[in-house]
Amino acid sequence: MILVSACLVGHKVRYNGGADAHELLMKYNQKGNFIAICPECLGKLPIPRPPAEIINGSGQEVLAGTAKIMSKLADDVTMNFVTGAETLLTIAVQYGVKAAILKERSPSCGVHQIYDGTFSGTKIVGQGVAAALLSQRGIKLYSEEDITEQMLKDLGAAETNEG
Ligand code: SF4
Repeated sequence: MILVSACLVGHKVRYNGGADAHELLMKYNQKGNFIAICPECLGKLPIPRPPAEIINGSGQEVLAGTAKIMSKLADDVTMNFVTGAETLLTIAVQYGVKAAILKERSPSCGVHQIYDGTFSGTKIVGQGVAAALLSQRGIKLYSEEDITEQMLKDLGAAETNEG
């Protein structure tokens, strides 16, 4: 099974109450090889919710306890994000997930980039909290910006699961 950020396959779980459906992932979602999950929902954050960014670091530093996550309304939501990431990892292990395709630049799901914590739209190199935890446990990460149809086939996304 392949873990996928729920918003990428049409679930309206983003901070603004919307989805960010990705055409190729929507097509392969029909095959039944994806597990679509939103770690921020697992962390009991509401939909919609204020945007949040990692302050002074990336997901690795949040997991190490040296950075935190603040909402734009100045609420500390670090524990929600960490709890959501840990629950996501538990589910991924239960399902034998070896690869995940996650939403780039999210403070939970970002694979290569996140925002810098100033809510100014400035991007920095780094991973979101859930992405960092999955990566630490050996799950191969891709962002939706990485993938091609051939990559999805190589990951087993095209296999049919009937019955
Ligand atoms: S936490 Fe991940 S799955 Fe949930 S809305 Fe943000 S990017 Fe999408």
